Amino acid sequence: MRTPDTYYTRPMSPPWFKPLDVDRLSEAEADIAFAVPLAELPRLRSQLASVEGEVRGHVRFARAAGIAIAEVAMSGVARLVCQRCLEAMEIPVETAARVGLIAAEADMSRVPEDLEPVLALEGRISIGELVEEELLLTLPIVPLHAETEACAVAPEAPLVTDEADETQRPFEGLGELFKRK
Ligand SMILES: [Zn+2]
Repeated sequence: MRTPDTYYTRPMSPPWFKPLDVDRLSEAEADIAFAVPLAELPRLRSQLASVEGEVRGHVRFARAAGIAIAEVAMSGVARLVCQRCLEAMEIPVETAARVGLIAAEADMSRVPEDLEPVLALEGRISIGELVEEELLLTLPIVPLHAETEACAVAPEAPLVTDEADETQRPFEGLGELFKRK
């Protein structure tokens, strides 16, 4: 697989893009503010059909029980595409999490139970990766307008793949369905 050229021609990497030394930051109890455009997070982008918007917040590093800890707090708006009507939709992001940073998967058992383990390979992680990790857990993989919202496709209209509805469908409804194929 080829890496897109844009990766290399990028004029200057934003600060959140840079891998940071987890041990050093946790010893110093560093507090780092960030603003991250969601469209620039590669794993998020590959998982969602379309993602825009921005989150702002800060990461506080600390140390507990010999583990580097990051407290990630952020807020903002994710602009996604509803997978039912393909119109834009916004999801507010307001999240705070404490994660335990480990240098290898073998260290997973050292992370206290109340912390989410996050892999910081070779003791390095970027703010962008931390933010992305959290957003992957927070945002829906298949975004849909909530029923109370104005989805361009009426939410009560059954999806073609909705098998629960199949048995109750009157015959003329079925004819309609076949014509669409
Ligand atoms: Zn919709």
